[in-house]
Amino acid sequence: MQLKMALAGNPNAGKTTLFNQLTGARQHVGNYPGITVDHKEGHLQYQGQTITITDLPGTYSMTAYSAEELVARDYLVYNRPQVVINIVDASNLERNLYLTCQLLELGAPLVVALNMIDVAEARGIEINAAVLAQHLQVPVVPIIARSGFGKDALLSAALQVASTNQQWNPLSISYGDDLDTTLSELIKIITAADLMTETYHARYTAIKYLENDDQIQAKGREISPQTAHLLEQLVEKTADHSRLTLDVYPEAIIADHRYGYIKSLLRQGVITRKFDADRLYTSDKIDKVLTNRLLGPVLMLAILFALYQFTFSWSEIPGTWLKNAFTWLSGLVETTLPNGTLKSLIISGIINGVGGVIGFVPLIMFMFFGIAILEDSGYLARVAFMMDRIFRIFGLHGSSVMPFIVSGGIAGGCAVPGVMATRTLRSPKERMATLLTVPFMNCGAKLPVLALLIGTFFGENKARYMFFFTMLAWIVAMLAAKLLRSTVLRGAPTPFVMELPPYRFPTIRGLCIHTWERTYQYVKKAGTVILGISILLWAMMTFPGLSEEVSTSFAMKRQEVMAAAAPDTRAELQIKKEPLSEQAQALNKAITLIGNEEAEMALRHSIAGKIGISLESVSRLAGFDWRTDIALIGGFAAKEVIVSTLGTAYSMGKVDSKDAQSLSDRLKEDSNWNKVTAVAALVFIMFYSPCFITLVCIAKEASWKWAAFSMAFNTILAYLMAVAVFQIGTFFSLG
Ligand code: GDP
Ligand code: MG
Repeated sequence: MQLKMALAGNPNAGKTTLFNQLTGARQHVGNYPGITVDHKEGHLQYQGQTITITDLPGTYSMTAYSAEELVARDYLVYNRPQVVINIVDASNLERNLYLTCQLLELGAPLVVALNMIDVAEARGIEINAAVLAQHLQVPVVPIIARSGFGKDALLSAALQVASTNQQWNPLSISYGDDLDTTLSELIKIITAADLMTETYHARYTAIKYLENDDQIQAKGREISPQTAHLLEQLVEKTADHSRLTLDVYPEAIIADHRYGYIKSLLRQGVITRKFDADRLYTSDKIDKVLTNRLLGPVLMLAILFALYQFTFSWSEIPGTWLKNAFTWLSGLVETTLPNGTLKSLIISGIINGVGGVIGFVPLIMFMFFGIAILEDSGYLARVAFMMDRIFRIFGLHGSSVMPFIVSGGIAGGCAVPGVMATRTLRSPKERMATLLTVPFMNCGAKLPVLALLIGTFFGENKARYMFFFTMLAWIVAMLAAKLLRSTVLRGAPTPFVMELPPYRFPTIRGLCIHTWERTYQYVKKAGTVILGISILLWAMMTFPGLSEEVSTSFAMKRQEVMAAAAPDTRAELQIKKEPLSEQAQALNKAITLIGNEEAEMALRHSIAGKIGISLESVSRLAGFDWRTDIALIGGFAAKEVIVSTLGTAYSMGKVDSKDAQSLSDRLKEDSNWNKVTAVAALVFIMFYSPCFITLVCIAKEASWKWAAFSMAFNTILAYLMAVAVFQIGTFFSLG
């Protein structure tokens, strides 16, 4: 028989760590709440049984407030795993048992995995598992997920529970006189009408009605409108009554009683503290400094800035190696292949396109490594905690910080998981506002463009400018959020509840896995999507090409110049003599110029050139020429493409690759580009439409209407900002 086992627990309780220990899989061990709301499955063999383990999303509760909670609950009731392992953080037992309490009320067959007993012990907390098991009436197994300690005991306890294949047997807690009376009336109606009784116990459905659970109420209405009406009426009466007498909603009374149940349970000899309870734990001591009202934000900025310095200085060396390797490769192709379309495809389409992206891998790798340190140590949660005060002002929520950071709030990241991470936000309006503004962050794909333009025009102070543009992204995102929250998404804020997990020393293994996973995602994108698009754009930039007549006229021009030169000079060029004589250099230059002229004419006549030129009258106001327009169009598909397209557009005018200039040098020389144009372009690139993949995600999370809104809103905003930058900058001749 196939055995189904589910893993449930609070975020950060160690679910993923345990899942990996049990299945041997290398899954993401991270603290992003809700990056994957879909459950994850793994398999394991134990005592001759094949067990399927499902890692449910981390949740604090089992209501219909957030997508995760629904996914977890629906999985349990519809798939009916024979046993649910509820992993709880022993160092934070009271808070974690709230979910346990709800799982017990649901009636699922439970085994409690008491995790992180090492942490609890270090904090002087001793937990008597046997007493806890006796009170909860389910097995409690102490484990250390990180080391695998207690794994076998846990599995055998789980199998024991699974083998009895017991009926679901819900725990019933008293919710005080008023609610208990209503509950029994509700139960009577539900049982009589047989409402959802094959899925939930009548008492559970009744509690959910009192808790105002949208999903259950909607189902009730769908199945039997009359019964639902009766139930809702009763609930409303009770709610009015409790508001009148106690000035609270029934939900709050229910939560209070659950915590009361847990408190009294813990007081009966479950927890012994070895140290004075008031003693400051190490984490708290650190927090006194790191989250201090005044010092905290200053230290936060310093830490983030240090991350930039680290990233830029350490990634420079391997970055140069990679760039040199690609330059060498182009040179090789240049000398071995005959001139023509194929050569152009390989050099301009493939090597330049992919090389431009791969060259930034070291940068992205170091950045991810730094973020992983912040995340795994628990500091990122403090950042969220501190940011809540600020976020509130802009109509967002402390939990919004994670989506922002995932999307590239510390630069490097991706709006795709960022958009998905907004699922943890409970209020739909705060969620939409977050969803629409996370694409403003500097994702990993924008980094190469930023690095290129900053490196070219502000090379002296790369780290400082990078930091400035990251801050700018935040400021614009916040203002846009405020704008949205006071217009299309107007509404009241929700209260902030957030856990500050204790600080932990990150493991090297964990850091490496995180860094590798994210870098790999980036490379995979570069290798597939980018390569395809780079080739497509190359084709758009190459075809239809110049007419034979025009080509011939250029060839004739070249011949004329050649013919006018002395035979010796011509010979020098043919044998590629080094160094060239003065006359030969002049001849070479003249021919190169003709080549450039021809290439530019070809590009102007290409499909992409026509589009770029037609947009030029509009984009001129922001200082963009048609070449930049082409690159920006490519950026709709994926932001990485901007660099590769600029590379292609600017390398096309190059005939002799011997004196190949890097894209950076080409831009510096080009009369269209200066510091003001660079800032205008940076601003536009940072804030215009999210890439296609992100738009699809927004559409999936919200609707196509919102995706279209995002595309239009961002592009218009970015354009207006770029125009302002360019016009003001030019007016004051800052270029
Ligand atoms: P999830 O959010 O429930 O999936 O939690 P994770 O598995 O991502 O774990 C959160 C953090 O706790 C990670 O940094 C783990 O390395 C760490 N962790 C998990 N289990 C233990 C444990 O038993 N002891 C200690 N000290 N750390 C643990
Ligand atoms: Mg996890």
